[in-house]
Amino acid sequence: MERTDRAHVEELERDNAALRAALREAEEANQAKSRFLSSMSHDIRTPMNAIVGMTAIALSHIDEKARVQDCLSKIQTASSHLMSLVNDVLDMSRIDSGRMTLNQEDFSLADLLHDAAVLLRPQAAQKEQDLAFHTGGIREEHLTGDPLRLRQILVNIIGNAIKYTQAGGSIQVELSQRPAGADTVWLDFSCRDNGIGMSQEFLGRIFLPFERVRSGAVSKIEGTGLGMSIVKKLVDSMGGQISVESREGAGSRFTVALPLAVSRKDRREPALPAGQTVLVAESQEERAGQIMDCLRDSGLEPVRLDSGLEAVTRLTEARYEKQMPCALLLGQELADMQPLDLAAHVRQLAGASFPILLVSEDDWALIEYRATRAGVSAFVPCPLFRSRLLDTLSSVTAGSGENSSTLGGPDEDYSGSRVLLVEDNELNQEIAMELLGMTGVQVEVAGDGAQALEKFRQSPEGYYDIIFMDVQMPVMDGYEATRQIRRLSREDAGGVWIVAMTANAFVEDVRQARQAGMNEHISKPVDVDRLLDILRTQLKPKAVKG
Ligand code: ADP
Repeated sequence: MERTDRAHVEELERDNAALRAALREAEEANQAKSRFLSSMSHDIRTPMNAIVGMTAIALSHIDEKARVQDCLSKIQTASSHLMSLVNDVLDMSRIDSGRMTLNQEDFSLADLLHDAAVLLRPQAAQKEQDLAFHTGGIREEHLTGDPLRLRQILVNIIGNAIKYTQAGGSIQVELSQRPAGADTVWLDFSCRDNGIGMSQEFLGRIFLPFERVRSGAVSKIEGTGLGMSIVKKLVDSMGGQISVESREGAGSRFTVALPLAVSRKDRREPALPAGQTVLVAESQEERAGQIMDCLRDSGLEPVRLDSGLEAVTRLTEARYEKQMPCALLLGQELADMQPLDLAAHVRQLAGASFPILLVSEDDWALIEYRATRAGVSAFVPCPLFRSRLLDTLSSVTAGSGENSSTLGGPDEDYSGSRVLLVEDNELNQEIAMELLGMTGVQVEVAGDGAQALEKFRQSPEGYYDIIFMDVQMPVMDGYEATRQIRRLSREDAGGVWIVAMTANAFVEDVRQARQAGMNEHISKPVDVDRLLDILRTQLKPKAVKG
C-alpha cells in the first residue's frame, strides 16, 4: 500500500515537473513573441517617422525644389527599408507558421551562382572589394532541392559580408562538396571577409530576430536584423548546419553545410575534340589548376602557360609545325601582360577563326566591347563551373573549328522556330529582339498581356515555341495572361513554354510566376547566357532539325 502511495506521489511530481517545464516554455515563447513585436514596432516606426517627417518638411517648402528633392530621396530610402522589413517579417512568419514548403526541383548550381553573382557583384564593385568565388571543389552541378531558398541563404550571407566589410576589403566565397550517401552530397559553403567582425558575446545572439551589433559603424548600415535568423531557419529546415567564427576588427567566416540530392536527369555531354591540345594562359595557380583539371577530365590535353610571351612563342611554333592547338583559354592574370593584349596578339598570329576564350570574373556586358575588339571569340563566366567551360569550348571548337562566336553560330541557328515576346517597354523590346534575333529565331511582339492572349488565341496550334512574358504590363499583366492562356481549350495551351521576364527576383515573385503557370524565370536585364540556355533546351538548332 505504502509503495503504491509513493509511486503515486512520484508520478504526480513528474507530472508537475513536466507541467512546470511546459509553462516555462510557453512563457519564454510568449516573451520572445512580445520582444519580437516590440522590436518590430520600433523598427517600423523609425522609417515611418522619417517618411511622415520628411513629407511634412517637403509640404512646407513646396516651392524649394532642392529641398523637396532631398526630402523625396530620404523618403525613398526609408520606404525601401520599410519594404525590406515587411518582406523579411512576412518571410519569417511564413517559415515560423510552417507555411513555407521547400521545393524539390532539379536545378543547376552554376545558374544559381551566376544569378547570385549578378546581384552581388555591383555592391562589391561599388566598395572596390575583391569578391572571389572558389568553385574548384564542385563535382555535381545538377542537384535537386529548393534553388530559390538556397540562393536566399547565399545572397544573405555574402551580402552581409559585403555590407560589413570596409571599402577595398576582401570577400572569399568557397564552395565544395562531400559525398553524403547514395545520390546525395553535402554542399559546403563558406564566406570569409576581413571586415568589422563581431564580438564573441554577440555571436551568441546573431541568429535571434532583430539582433544587430550595437555600434556606430553598424547603425549607419541599413539592415533589419532579420536576415540571419531567416537564414538559420532555412538551413535548419533543409537539414543543414550553420556556424560563424568572428573577431572584432579582423573579420568573419560563415560556414554552411547542406545535404542535397544529386539530380538523376540525363544530360548531353558537350562534344569536344578529344586528345587535342588546349593552351591555358593563366598565372593564378588556383584558377589555372581548376581549368586544367576540367580539361584533362574531359579527355583534352591542356598545356599551362604563365606568360603572354610563352603563349606567343608556343603558337608561333605550332603554326610553323602545322600543329595548332584547338583553342586558347585566357584567364585573369598573366605574368607579363594584360590578357586582352595577349588576345590581340594571338588573333593576329593565329588568324580569324582560331578560338580564343576569355575566362573572367568581370561582367561580360561591361567588357564585351573591348574583349571582342581584342579578338576574344567567346566568354566563360565566373564563378567558374565545368559545364560552362566545356559547353563554351564545345560551341567554338565544334565541327571544323571555324566558328568564332557563341552567338548566332551554326550551333545556335534557330531559324524556323518562333517566339512571342510580350513586353510593353519599347527599349526592352528592342534589346530582347536584338538578342533573340541573333539566333535566327523568328520573333513576334505583343505590347501587353491582353494582346499576347489574343495573338496566341488567333495562332494555329503549335505556332509559338516559346513565349517570353514580361510580368508588369498595362491592361493585363503577365501572370493573368499566362493563367488565361493555360485555361484555353486547345492542345498547346498547357504545353507552350512560358518564360517570365521580370526585374524582380524575389523568392515570392518567382513562386508567383510558377503558380501562374510559367515554366521558367529570367530576370532583367536579360543575361544572354540564360537566354541561350532556354533556347537550347526548348528549341532545336536548324542543323539538327534537318
Ligand atoms: P542586418 O539586416 O542588420 O544585416 P542580419 O540578421 O543579416 O541583419 O545580421 C545581423 C547582424 O549581424 C548585423 O546587423 C551585423 O551586426 C552582424 N553581422 C552579420 N554578418 C556580418 C559580417 N559578415 N560581419 C560583421 N557583422 C555581421
